[in-house]
Amino acid sequence: MNDSTLQISRQVFGIDAWGNGYFGINAAGNVCVYPFGDERASLDLGELMNTATRRKIQTPILFRFPQILETQLNRLHKAFQNAMEETKYEGNLRCVFPFKVNQRKEFIEEIVRCGHKHAYGLEVGTKTELFAALHYELHPEALLICNGFKDSHLIELAFDAKKMGKNIILVIEGTDELKYIIEYAKTVGFCVDIGLRAKLYAKGSGLWEKSGGAESKFGLSTVEMTEALYLIEEAGLKEHLVMVHYHIGSQITEIKRVKNAMKEASRVYAKICRSGFNLKILNIGGGIGVDYDGSKTSFYVSANYTLQEFANDVVYIIQEVCKSENVKCPTIVSESGRFVAAFHSLLITDVREVEKMGGEISEVVLSESSHKILVDLLNVCKSINGKNYVEYYHDALEYREELFTLFNLGFLELEDRARSEVIFDEICSKALYYHAVSGVHLEEFEDLAKTRTSKYLANFSIFQSIPDFWGIQQLFPVMPITRLNEKTTRTGVIMDITCDSDGCLGKFVDKHDVKQSLELHVPQSNKPYYVGFFLVGAYQEALGNNHNLFGAVNELNVRVGENGTIERIDDVRGEDVGELLRMFNYRDDEILSGYVKQLRKRLDDQAITSAEYDLIWARIKVFLTEYPYLVSKSRLEIIG
Ligand SMILES: *Cc1c(COP(=O)(O)O)cnc(C)c1O
Repeated sequence: MNDSTLQISRQVFGIDAWGNGYFGINAAGNVCVYPFGDERASLDLGELMNTATRRKIQTPILFRFPQILETQLNRLHKAFQNAMEETKYEGNLRCVFPFKVNQRKEFIEEIVRCGHKHAYGLEVGTKTELFAALHYELHPEALLICNGFKDSHLIELAFDAKKMGKNIILVIEGTDELKYIIEYAKTVGFCVDIGLRAKLYAKGSGLWEKSGGAESKFGLSTVEMTEALYLIEEAGLKEHLVMVHYHIGSQITEIKRVKNAMKEASRVYAKICRSGFNLKILNIGGGIGVDYDGSKTSFYVSANYTLQEFANDVVYIIQEVCKSENVKCPTIVSESGRFVAAFHSLLITDVREVEKMGGEISEVVLSESSHKILVDLLNVCKSINGKNYVEYYHDALEYREELFTLFNLGFLELEDRARSEVIFDEICSKALYYHAVSGVHLEEFEDLAKTRTSKYLANFSIFQSIPDFWGIQQLFPVMPITRLNEKTTRTGVIMDITCDSDGCLGKFVDKHDVKQSLELHVPQSNKPYYVGFFLVGAYQEALGNNHNLFGAVNELNVRVGENGTIERIDDVRGEDVGELLRMFNYRDDEILSGYVKQLRKRLDDQAITSAEYDLIWARIKVFLTEYPYLVSKSRLEIIG
């Protein structure tokens, strides 16, 4: 029974499809994490939440699994290495991580640490990112690639970076910045390496299609590129032009688009080489898609190719084009960030309230005198199953109709009518459950599902933790992390605790479609009911905002030992009320003196006693260090 329920849960939530080997459901019915992407070691998320509670870390909690990051990074390199071995590619691989995908210190430090063995570098797009990136001691051969719009200060910092021994490459986005670089090189008597960002005719696909193509915001058109080549040659800096770069957008959903861009960019690379420049690097940008819904299609939250297929196509096309143009194969640089970062973190929070749909079936007791039809309705409820649910649901509809008539004729008491509603509600839940797991799509039940979704209030902010859901309808896998050996009996949408009607999650990943509601359990009164939001490691932390003054959440960084125990766990406290207010220019002393002034007045007016004054004042002083999300005091008291 349990085993088959586990199997059903796997299907309903699609965890094997989007989990990429990192997530699964264990025999205890909890979601577990496989940080190495295989069964070597796993961590039970339900138990991790117990650990968090013991440590008095409050929800919402962001879990980081640095070993997932490392595994994903290894997979990226392995895929390209496989492809290069297969085709006997005569060139190297030097990947970089794009800073903008996740700039949190905890994250970047891990990238720097586990990237060392691959000579993994960093890609930056702004002054601040460059400044932060330069303080790390990367592998001596790692690249530091500088994209984006540059002012003189950034360019000067890049020249200093070269003196610091960095392999820095300034990617030219326009001829003006190139002119400044040339001028500055003359002044200081040396020059950094330069790359050219090509504006390709080829476009990506999916939400970021606009990043590619002739109208793209970035890169040099063919005319500008010719002008840039002329300027570089004229300045005598030919040997400093080392790289051609392009990036046709994030989350490319179709492999066809990848190939088209690759063909065009390889040709640009080869032609520049043939015109007498000694290029060494072809930077293919980012864009490797993450299959958020597990559908393996060109749907906007998916990708219709595997990593290996991507790498094979890239390597093969570059080699073919270089061969035909008779130029040496370049070092390949991938800037894919989403693919590297997305899997490593997830958010867990607890449900605080469920909008009540009706009474509890367990409280329904029929007596000897209960009407026969009511007894029949209860029997339907008890014996409905996966084989008969359509027929039994129809029977229930009929019984309900009859009971309604009986009531109108005065043959049914109010209590019995209430009981019939609770029983009918339970039958609907069960029928919907069997429909969901059957995999068939019957319109009748889909319509029923829409009318019956409950609202689950979860302790988090969509704007802070999954802003892309709000901003661009990005979908993330969401599911309960415990009780997966129990049937779900509700479908619901998830509301956050912001006072914004946009703070409601009503679209969920599905292998075939987009689900309008999620299968959920009824929370038990004595235990927290946890929901996990997965694959949030890319972009969400960078884009998260402080709507309603909610801030960065508590974090737990977890490393697993080979035997499946926790090897190390570090916590990073989320932002408190004081930090959030300071970010918006409030000052602690002003806030506190505002309180004092008002309280004093109340005291002087004898509206409060001095004991009350002291009590209120004591509470206010510590409030600045309060976690802005809903605390669950009772739970902490039980444990602490
Ligand atoms: C954003 C960006 C990337 C990363 O794209 P992903 O979709 O995260 O792989 C790479 N290169 C450049 C220039 C970018 O702007």
